[in-house]
Formats: sequence, C-alpha cells, structure tokens
Amino acid sequence: MTPPPSDDRGGPLLPHPATGVPFPSPVPPGSGWPGDPSPPSAPVARTPAEVAALAAAAGSPEQVQAHASVCRACPRLVAWREEVARTRRRAYAGEPYWGRPVPSLGESPRVLVVGLAPAAHGGNRTGRVFTGDRSGDWIIAALHAAGLASQPTSVHAADGLRLPGCRIVAPVRCAPPDNRPSTAERDTCARWLDAELRLAVAELRVVLALGGFAWASVLGAARRAGWRVPRPQPRFGHGAQAELLLPDGRAARLLGSYHVSQQNTSTGRLTAAMLQDVVSAAAALAEAGD
Ligand code: SF4
Repeated sequence: MTPPPSDDRGGPLLPHPATGVPFPSPVPPGSGWPGDPSPPSAPVARTPAEVAALAAAAGSPEQVQAHASVCRACPRLVAWREEVARTRRRAYAGEPYWGRPVPSLGESPRVLVVGLAPAAHGGNRTGRVFTGDRSGDWIIAALHAAGLASQPTSVHAADGLRLPGCRIVAPVRCAPPDNRPSTAERDTCARWLDAELRLAVAELRVVLALGGFAWASVLGAARRAGWRVPRPQPRFGHGAQAELLLPDGRAARLLGSYHVSQQNTSTGRLTAAMLQDVVSAAAALAEAGD
C-alpha cells in the first residue's frame, strides 16, 4: 500500500472530510482550510504580554481572529492541542485536525454567545467553535430555532453554516486537557475576549453566557472595559439575567444558561426545552433593543 504523502515534519497529509484537500495535522495558517482567518504572515503571540499587545492593537474582529488563531502563549495548551491533532481519535484518524486556537464564529455581535473552550475532538478537530460534537449540535439547533443561525447543524467548517444574528466566542480558544483551563491560561486568553467586546460594543444587545465560567469571564471583561456591572456581582444560574451599562449609556442584557456540555445534556440537567427558552429570550431581547 502506498503511504499518504507527508508534510515537511514527516506527518501524513490527510484529506479534509468535506473538501478533500490534504492538510498536515495540525493545520498551518494560510494553507486553505475553510474559514482559516490567519495568513501565513500573521504575528504570533508567544507570551501573555504579546497577547495583550496584539489584542489591544486589533482594529477589527477579523484582525482579532487572524492574530488569535495562531497564538502560542500558553505552553501547556499549545502542547495539548497539537498532541491531540497528531494522535487523533480512532474515529477521526483519517482526517486532519485543526490543532490551533478556534476563531470566533458569526457575523453580528448583537447577540454574543460565550462558551468555555473548544473540545479536543470537536472545535480542535474541525477548526470551528461548537462544530463536530454533541455540544455544537445542541447550541446550533437552538440558535437556528431562534432565527440566529442559517441551519440547525454544525458538522465541519465547510458546511455553509452562517450566523447572521449572533457571534460565538470562546473565552479560552485552545482545547484544554479535561476541559479545564488554568487560571493563568484563562487570564491570558481574556485579552482576546476584551478585544472582542471592545469591537462589538456598538452593535451589542445581549450576551448569552453558557455556564459559570463564561458568566465570570464576561463580567471580568465588562469591568475591564469600563462597563457598569451591578454590585453585588450577579450570580450565575440557568435563566439568570443582569443588566450591564455600556460606556455610551445603553444597557446590554447578560443571560445565563447551563453549558451545553455532554455532562449537562446527558444527565438532563439541561434539556433542549430549557436551552431553547434562554436562547429564544436572548433573540427576543436583541430584537426589542432596536
Ligand atoms: S488559550 Fe488563548 S492565549 Fe492561550 S495559547 Fe490559546 S489562544 Fe493563546
């Protein structure tokens, strides 16, 4: 049998499951992966200070994605995401893994959906947030039912999914071991979230936090951005709401939902109806804010 062609590090080139184009695993920037926001020349942040500087200088959401998606500032997460991309799960052994930070997804930040971090064999494989795993199935179906997504499924980065009514952001962009980023990793990646919020503020109406980690990340970013956050700090819960006052005097609504993790959905802690209620409320609030 002829072995598959190799990349220049000796790893095999594997065909993308939708396009058939061969890629190394992990995928280099600018090599043609569907939705890759980074050119080969994108500057690479290798320290927390470099993340802070690049994030603060970003002038557009596109620039945030281009720079964040080549970031290497958290050594433990870089090693893990790339190790997973090289070894791959048996079911996906024949396809390339993205193995890089996942970019945000969506066209409008009117409803900003904030999750936790990409899954090792979900976003870290497909290169798109909430894509290719059960968590993605849940949240994308709910967004579609609320009119915020163009289709109810999210399978791979070339499936045509569009989010005209919202944007999804991960406060930690690299897959962490056991889905648990460290405090230092959370704080380093928070600078990319700060940039997202700064650039979203003019259109933002609603922030939907999926889980307590997202809730705390949003409140931290809001404070750093000079938004007025209620005191005492609003507590996370499924269906919890809080009002955040933006620098221009407008209010944005923060909504909480249990995270769409398999731990929550397979145990019934979060049902499809519970999720739909909160996502539909977010869509309605964004609509009413005009
Ligand atoms: S978690 Fe965030 S800050 Fe850390 S390497 Fe990934 S993208 Fe960079």
